[in-house]
Amino acid sequence: MDQRTKRILGRISIVTAIAVAATYTISFSVRWAAGMPIDWLSWVECLVIPIVIGTPIGWYVFSQGEDLQAAHAKLEKAHLELNKAHERLAFVARHDQMTGLLNREGFLHQLEQCRGRNDSHVVLIADADHFKRINDRYGHPKGDEALMKIARALQYAVRRKDVVGRIGGEEFGILLVSVSLEEGMQMADLIRRQVQCIPWQLDVSEAPGLSVSIGGAVMDRSSAKIADVLRQADRCLYEAKRLGRNRVAFDYAVPAVA
Ligand code: GH3
Ligand code: MG
Ligand code: MG
Repeated sequence: MDQRTKRILGRISIVTAIAVAATYTISFSVRWAAGMPIDWLSWVECLVIPIVIGTPIGWYVFSQGEDLQAAHAKLEKAHLELNKAHERLAFVARHDQMTGLLNREGFLHQLEQCRGRNDSHVVLIADADHFKRINDRYGHPKGDEALMKIARALQYAVRRKDVVGRIGGEEFGILLVSVSLEEGMQMADLIRRQVQCIPWQLDVSEAPGLSVSIGGAVMDRSSAKIADVLRQADRCLYEAKRLGRNRVAFDYAVPAVA
């Protein structure tokens, strides 16, 4: 006998016992009040009638209850699985598969979240220098490897609370949370140096090293739109490229390569 049947029979037994007791009480009280005799047939009637009527009704009601409970449990499980799938999808939709960093969408979302806070932040765009040459020289898979090394170096160079995302093919966005312009410029240069230090193609002595050019802009509550902040950082990035690459540029200063 399975657990479900045992549970149903258990409940039927309890309810039927109560029904038998109630039937005896009512029937015997009425007979006693009416001065009628209580014979053996009365005992049998009070026992058999509630059992015969109560058992099938009890079976129907309690099996329905069991079915409902099982359906409810199944629904809850499906709901949990759906939530998990939704979370997985949301993660995939906001992350870059190759580097594991946030993708453009995820990065922009983080910028939007941060902009509302009553603080000043610095947004950087770091673009790998002459990356096409790396692909042309070593092939696309090696280029991918270089991108992953750059992604790791960027993450290593920033603090835990900062945000790094891959916002384009060989372009990364970095949000330096709660920093002034001066602090942001120093951190951007540290990031640039970190990429420059990546060990790369050590077996090929004349291989060009990896480097990034970085453009930066301040973002605070007065920044009207995220797009404007990114445009400003992009303008600075263009300036850093124009001045020779492997350097950092903000609107206010363009430090030379160290
Ligand atoms: P610059 O210093 O001006 O940025 O030069 P660049 O060669 O890096 O810039 P350009 O825009 O001319 O080329 C970008 C290259 O990045 C071309 C493209 O094939 C490569 N790239 C973009 N995404 C990926 C990727 O996911 N994997 C690899 N291996 N290469 C990529
Ligand atoms: Mg590039
Ligand atoms: Mg680019």
